[in-house]
Amino acid sequence: MSKTILITGAAGFLGSHLCDRFIAEGFEVIGMDNFITGDRKNIQHLLDVPSFKFIEHDITEFVNIQGHLDYILHFASPASPIDYLKIPIQTLKVGSLGTHNLLGLAKAKKARILIASTSEVYGDPLVHPQTEDYYGNVNTIGPRGVYDEAKRFQESITMAYHRFHCLETRIVRIFNTYGPRMRLNDGRVIPAFMGQALRGEDLTVFGDGLQTRSFCYVDDQVEGIYKLLFSDYAYPVNIGNPHEISIKDFAEEIVKLTDTKQKIVYKALPIDDPMQRQPDITLAKKILNWEPKVDRAEGMKKTFAYFKGLSKEELFKSEH
Ligand code: NAD
Ligand code: UDP
Repeated sequence: MSKTILITGAAGFLGSHLCDRFIAEGFEVIGMDNFITGDRKNIQHLLDVPSFKFIEHDITEFVNIQGHLDYILHFASPASPIDYLKIPIQTLKVGSLGTHNLLGLAKAKKARILIASTSEVYGDPLVHPQTEDYYGNVNTIGPRGVYDEAKRFQESITMAYHRFHCLETRIVRIFNTYGPRMRLNDGRVIPAFMGQALRGEDLTVFGDGLQTRSFCYVDDQVEGIYKLLFSDYAYPVNIGNPHEISIKDFAEEIVKLTDTKQKIVYKALPIDDPMQRQPDITLAKKILNWEPKVDRAEGMKKTFAYFKGLSKEELFKSEH
């Protein structure tokens, strides 16, 4: 008999790719979302699939699921800096109250739950690359604190349910991931640069552009999450691509890829923007036998093809 999995944040970027993967693997998938940052378009292709069911619901309210559940993937949360600056209270609530509801549901259903944490738990890291045993450097009261601290609380309450209720839990610390279905106007650097190139606007690099990130293609991220769910490891695991690049060099790569005639311009660096970020994936390699396979050139080509396929209306529509 096929297993049933609940995926929260199903209409978002990562959630929708996870729905695709688990349906392809023969699971009965229940997607849940309240569309606060997601888009119905991301799951439109699944609505007629017999093994997919969608429930519109805000998970900060009690989550009620009829019948049996084997697994839960908890991915609901605003995830881009402009989203969580715009909806800070909802961000804190979904990471805290929302996670509490899902842990309670997992306990009631005796389901295994995997929660989506983030490299942001390391804040502006003083250890480089970041290993799972680094405790992080987060400004609790800064504007990004609402996301970082919600995710840190999420990890703590998950471990408490694991230790106190013997719940089967998994924690993935996701590093910057990209690919088709990212929201064009979510402010994250890849949709920002690609949207600017396609609209004929200058590419806006924040600060001096020497800050670094390491970008992981979505298929690699989904594979890492899939392997982690079925592992027996309850502590946090970094999943990301260690190939690090400065934002300035990255902007230059995107100028070449998109063949835009626009310039790179410099704007103020947002408060608490981390200066460097690169996952140490030794643990994932060892316990999951996982490492990313898609290099940035290939992943960026696929991502650009997605953004190029958007309609003019979508390309020019202002924020969500
Ligand atoms: P996204 O914004 O595309 O998706 C998040 C989804 O969660 C959206 O569809 C949104 O509507 C839904 N949601 C938010 N609050 C909700 C609530 N209260 N009830 C129900 N649904 C709600 O973001 P994403 O990039 O797909 O991120 C998914 C998860 O992965 C998040 O938890 C995020 O913190 C984590 N993550 C993502 C990245 C990345 O690079 N994409 C990096 C680190 C962590
Ligand atoms: N960034 C930029 N220009 C933009 C959007 C983002 O230079 O138009 C920078 C941002 O300041 C950060 C990096 O790109 O240093 C990655 O930003 P993103 O929001 O994608 O992710 P995060 O900061 O959460 O890693």
